[in-house]
Amino acid sequence: MVPDLVIAGATLAGHATPMDVAIGAGRIIGIAPQIVAEAPRHAAEGNLLAPGLVECHIHLDKAGILERCALERGTLAEAVAETARLKAGFTEEDVYARAAVVVEQAISHGTMAMRTFVEIDPRAGLRSFDAIKAIRADYAHAIPIEICAFAQEGLTNEPATEPLLATALADGADLVGGCSYTDPDPAEHIRRIFALAERFGVAADFHVDFDLDPEGSDLPAIIAETERRGWQGRVACGHATKLAAMPPDAVAAMAARLAGAGIGIVALPATDLFLLGRDADRLAPRGVAPLMALAAAGVVTAVASNNILNPFTPFGDASLLRQANLFANVAQLSRDSDLDQAFAMIGANAARLLGRAHGLAVGAAADLVLIDATSEADAVRRCAPVLAGWKNGRQSFVRPRAALLGR
Ligand SMILES: [Zn+2]
Repeated sequence: MVPDLVIAGATLAGHATPMDVAIGAGRIIGIAPQIVAEAPRHAAEGNLLAPGLVECHIHLDKAGILERCALERGTLAEAVAETARLKAGFTEEDVYARAAVVVEQAISHGTMAMRTFVEIDPRAGLRSFDAIKAIRADYAHAIPIEICAFAQEGLTNEPATEPLLATALADGADLVGGCSYTDPDPAEHIRRIFALAERFGVAADFHVDFDLDPEGSDLPAIIAETERRGWQGRVACGHATKLAAMPPDAVAAMAARLAGAGIGIVALPATDLFLLGRDADRLAPRGVAPLMALAAAGVVTAVASNNILNPFTPFGDASLLRQANLFANVAQLSRDSDLDQAFAMIGANAARLLGRAHGLAVGAAADLVLIDATSEADAVRRCAPVLAGWKNGRQSFVRPRAALLGR
């Protein structure tokens, strides 16, 4: 096949010298030290060419509402209550406008696939869901977006939510999400979310164990339902910060069970660090799930943004490299091999968690991001700038390197 484009002279993980990458009909059709073709060439100038980054846990519907909030305590309870108050006033246009800002930032930071939660309950109705469906359609050329119909504020305490989730799942939601820690009956909440997942044949993604008490984990209930229903490989859990408070032998035991059940764990360091450990008057704990120990036991582990500029996380620009860097710093990583793993947590691992193909190989989709870095570890160490990206072989953004002037 004649290439449509050659990205020339790029650093690729696993190759000692720069390579050319040929793209045809949206796929990678050649990787070699020198590819001679009539096609247009993009000079990579030795920068790192990597598969597109994957955001596996974000909340587009409630991003960008920080200026509407009155934050006093900075706690999880306050964040949930403030968001509940505000979302009753969300309109479809408002949600669309705020989500579009975040999606465009994500694209320009090299993110090429995304799973977003959308809160569906009596306050939000289906307005946020309708807005995010429009976002999904309008940005499909640059970023496929999965929509997780999400019960942020519980199920057993709010009977109107469950039929709304079912309506969304029948009308284009890709999967269902639960939040056991806001439900007065966590085990029943988990059972009902799995029942919806089974009824609609979709994956399930939970917000779980979001505190630093090592006791009372909901993970065993999720593991049991996953195994009972044969949902291995289709379940993810975000936060899981109780694992950060458990002794190493308890973490190892839980890790073995999670790995056996094919359940992925997603750390959300910006939120976990912001909301947890506020009762400490000194030496505040880190409170981020111990992903390296989990990964060593075979658990699929990922890092994600979670929230952007809202009561849960008053920070953020949808840069996944920023989150990988934050995680690496919190987890005290220094070896290149460990930083490579942190890179995989916003790339290959996150894609696996979403059940998406991912990789830079002949035959793969040409979802490629060019990063101003010499290696994956270097990209994480420096939150390296992203320079350009191609989605299915078509350039989806350019972000020119800063140039000094005046000398
Ligand atoms: Zn979340």
